[in-house]
Amino acid sequence: MGVGGGAISLLKLAEPFAESRGGTRTTPRCYYHPDRETNITCGRCERPLCADCVKHGATGVRCEECLTPPPRARGLATTRQVVQATTAALVVALAGGLLLGWLGWVGPLTALVLGLAVGSAAFYGGRRHRDAAIQGAAGIMALVGLLLAAVVLSLRGGQAEVGGVARTLVNLPYARFILPAIAAIVGAVLRFLL
Ligand SMILES: [Zn+2]
Ligand SMILES: [Zn+2]
Repeated sequence: MGVGGGAISLLKLAEPFAESRGGTRTTPRCYYHPDRETNITCGRCERPLCADCVKHGATGVRCEECLTPPPRARGLATTRQVVQATTAALVVALAGGLLLGWLGWVGPLTALVLGLAVGSAAFYGGRRHRDAAIQGAAGIMALVGLLLAAVVLSLRGGQAEVGGVARTLVNLPYARFILPAIAAIVGAVLRFLL
């Protein structure tokens, strides 16, 4: 009786030890194969990985997802990057529009060049992302730049009276600028396909 009780106590004492050596509760299991125990983890996201799931990246052990992020995840820009892309596009659009209007070079071809420049600004300002949001912002900014060029062109007569810009905007010969406007937008969006 006394001997049996001693053996049970010994087993109970040994239990936690057995568990920590390779038991079920303390060893992590593969993220992709929950039935496989492993001590290897992805160096980036720290998911446990079995021998079949371990990939070797340039900087160590990686899981499948961390080694090759899905293209969608890679292409998505952060809100901050969209804002930066839009700001860069606006700056180039205003500067380019001012220059084209001042030079009097407002036509489909120069508008296309303006669009390409605005698209480039958005592309690099947004860290080379090609999101629809950034492309859309580039297109709108190219249009803003062309509108500025058209206003400057119309104001070149020399009338700088109050309300001149507003009146010019209202009375712009819009039909004349439809083709350049399309060219500017096409240029901006086309830049993202290069
Ligand atoms: Zn990972
Ligand atoms: Zn696995």
